[in-house]
Amino acid sequence: MTLFLSLDALRERKRALADPVALGGLAASLQHELHQALDVPVPDGKSRLTRQGGRCPSCTVLLDFDPRSPHAHSCPNCRSVHTDRAHHEWWLMNAHLWTAEQCTRAAAIAYLCDDERAGARADDILATYTDRYLAWSNRDNTLGPTRPFFSTYLESIWLLHLASALDLREAAAGCMTAGGSAARERLIAPSAALIASFDEGRSNRQVWHAAALLAASRLLRNERMRDGAALSLVTLMREGLHTDGSWYEGENYHLFAHRGLLSAVTIAEQAGVELPSSLMQRFDAGFAAPFRTVLPDGLFPARRDSQYGVTLRQYRTADWIECGFARNDTPELRSALASLYADWPSRGDTGRSTSSADAERNRAGVRLTRADCNWRTLLLARPTLPLLADAVPRSELLEGQGLAVFRRHGGRFWVGLDYGDPGAGHGHPDRLNLIIATRHARWLDDVGTGSYTAPTLSWYRSSMAHNAPVVDGQDQGAARSALLAHDEQQDAGWVSASFTEPRSQVHFVRTVVVMRDHVLDELTWSSAAPVTVDLPMQVQLVELDDTRWVPFTPRTAHDAHLAGVVARPLVAGVFSELTLCGLPSPASSNPDESECTFVTHLLSDTPAMLWRAATIGPPAGAPHELTSLRQQGCAGRSVRVIAPASSLTHVAEVDASVQVISADGSIARHRRGAAGWVVQVHSADGTHHLTLGGVREHASSKVPPPPPSASQSATRLCAGRSIVFELGAPHYRRTEEAWEAAGQPTASVAVQHDLHAIRIDVSVALGRAPRFAVACDANPLDNELADINSDGVQLHWRSIDGHSWNSALVVPEGDGVRLQAAEGTLDGLTVRQVPPAMPGATGFQLHFALPWPDSSTPFEFDCCVNECPPGRERRRGQLVLSGARGEFGYLRGPRQSDAHAIRIILHPAQP
Ligand SMILES: [Zn+2]
Ligand SMILES: [Zn+2]
Repeated sequence: MTLFLSLDALRERKRALADPVALGGLAASLQHELHQALDVPVPDGKSRLTRQGGRCPSCTVLLDFDPRSPHAHSCPNCRSVHTDRAHHEWWLMNAHLWTAEQCTRAAAIAYLCDDERAGARADDILATYTDRYLAWSNRDNTLGPTRPFFSTYLESIWLLHLASALDLREAAAGCMTAGGSAARERLIAPSAALIASFDEGRSNRQVWHAAALLAASRLLRNERMRDGAALSLVTLMREGLHTDGSWYEGENYHLFAHRGLLSAVTIAEQAGVELPSSLMQRFDAGFAAPFRTVLPDGLFPARRDSQYGVTLRQYRTADWIECGFARNDTPELRSALASLYADWPSRGDTGRSTSSADAERNRAGVRLTRADCNWRTLLLARPTLPLLADAVPRSELLEGQGLAVFRRHGGRFWVGLDYGDPGAGHGHPDRLNLIIATRHARWLDDVGTGSYTAPTLSWYRSSMAHNAPVVDGQDQGAARSALLAHDEQQDAGWVSASFTEPRSQVHFVRTVVVMRDHVLDELTWSSAAPVTVDLPMQVQLVELDDTRWVPFTPRTAHDAHLAGVVARPLVAGVFSELTLCGLPSPASSNPDESECTFVTHLLSDTPAMLWRAATIGPPAGAPHELTSLRQQGCAGRSVRVIAPASSLTHVAEVDASVQVISADGSIARHRRGAAGWVVQVHSADGTHHLTLGGVREHASSKVPPPPPSASQSATRLCAGRSIVFELGAPHYRRTEEAWEAAGQPTASVAVQHDLHAIRIDVSVALGRAPRFAVACDANPLDNELADINSDGVQLHWRSIDGHSWNSALVVPEGDGVRLQAAEGTLDGLTVRQVPPAMPGATGFQLHFALPWPDSSTPFEFDCCVNECPPGRERRRGQLVLSGARGEFGYLRGPRQSDAHAIRIILHPAQP
């Protein structure tokens, strides 16, 4: 047995690699690199994620990873060196992954090149990890159970590598070895059990769990484990991969998840698992997907939680495409390989020698060859490549993903409307986001996300940080938008999509028409009630006349990230010409500032306002500005005609057409027609009419219905009476330990109302002395309020005016309490201890009082009891009034969704 290919195929490969030019010399290159690092010790200890660990305190960029330097970590930017423990704990994550990958590379080289030193290295790593694995603690994790790491998916990547290495070593030995049985017993079986206990559903991380469990199940000959992992794989392919082959969480996670799918699918196939052919088509299409959306500068768009400014020209991408090409020889993959192996100004460090396996550490683009690939290419790729030709990139519609890309000028001009899948936890509230890029500049950019543990996260994950509509200054709710029309003819195309913002029910339609020399962008909206609609654009307005601007408070949910806000009115019904400045491409070492500048002719059909503000700009980049159009009322329409500076002379609305006069004298008249978008072009060549069609059938139907609201059962409560809820095992939202192992904590929550207030008594029984955290200013672990990692209580309720869902976080302190608003407002809430916790107590009680003068308004609420015993630094679990529903407590902070809120109908006292 072997995991990735049959024993026969492995022997055949060994014969093929006897030719030193096979695979472009990859075997010799990997072997040489491996021999350079045979003496690096196997790391010991559990890694830890903190706010500080692994980042330069002054530049905030990731510190370099050097497997030989556990205690001194240098900043790639300012070259300062850092020795704090937190950096070592972060280093351990990379070191464990690096070591596991070394182990797999060594085992592959040992087999394919008859290299005994490589074999001994693989055996030593396996034996050392077998001895250490169970000694590391499974606690205080950030995301899921794990021993060497803080998140389960990292352990999955690590285990997949170690299992692959053991498999190759036993293929070389021809039998199960003594070291192999020890590794099965003390490393692979317990690690697989821990991974199997944490199902992350439709997540990129679950792909790696499935891959690791498929690998482990074969080594352990555990068919139940194999069938469970295969089922999980099929579910992920069906629910995570769109029909166009793209992964739903954005480009960054596409690359990560699809590399995991490559391992999982290959192992499943070798194990004889049948995968549905329709899903295999999606999987195969997934190799080319990132090349369909790649920007003119070779970087992928930083949609969703993508890292910003990352090129596809990474050695791991070449390794992955090589494996895809071995499966299917398609023109798209030939073109992808051609672009990855194309001439490039510099040969440089690919990062392979310090790679942390499949956890990305991306590099600037360098010249790549086949010899730069990794062990999967060594095992799976074609020994020789055919002649590769780089195709001219075309316009693309990824209809499953909901992304329309228009390319002009041989791919040097790129316009994308991102309308589709909101993308779950790594998604951004940016439906109808418009992105425009040239070879050297980003006119309208999507800058992705920086650090998950920095306070800037809330900005990057806001609607206001995109080029997408915003209602009443609040982030969009998550919903899919619908494609209304799409067509692409020669150098003229359009896309139109609608989006109903779920919170406000404001209905938007955005239509983007892309010509050779200009882009027309129209946004219309309608609402049942008066609202404020912003359309921010992440650009700097270049305006010499500063006199009309007055200071302004935009009142958005993200004002804290805006500085120097000023506004001026905008006259209705006429086009105003604005000169705007985007960002230089992160790939440009010598950006041409002039390419960042472009013009927008802007029209609002109602009196509106333009406001602008300084913002933080892209992650690790310079601060930038945004410029927003603000309209108010129950409906609005705005039009932007966007073009390179000085290419247009005049834009006007004439007889319901938008007339665009270009500098070369040609005139384009745009209007919406019955069958699509009609453009009439007058130029020296004569007059051409064209109708852009592709109108979708459902486009004429009404606004889609709002998502069904959560079913709530209401409870009646008469004044002066009380309702008591008892919380126990079904309410416990665990992390590493189940309710029984956590000491069986319980609580009772009693609710009363009089004619003035709601009163709630929460009585907590922990079965141990409470541990209340001491107050601290900043949480060293992450962005959350530090008090979630304490025994304490969270109360969540809907304001009496129905506007906000509020969350209060309470930790007893001395005789009183520490009370913080975690979300919304406190609304006059008061909290006290009753009685103050006594020495020797095994629980505590809190009394909440909330002004509620109107009995006719039902009270909707939820309550979570946080539990964090001595010796832990992160919350162990929480009792949730509305039920735990099998959920885990990771990454929830002080938040609790209103989806299952308890609804209480209040009655005045009986006479
Ligand atoms: Zn630095
Ligand atoms: Zn985004």
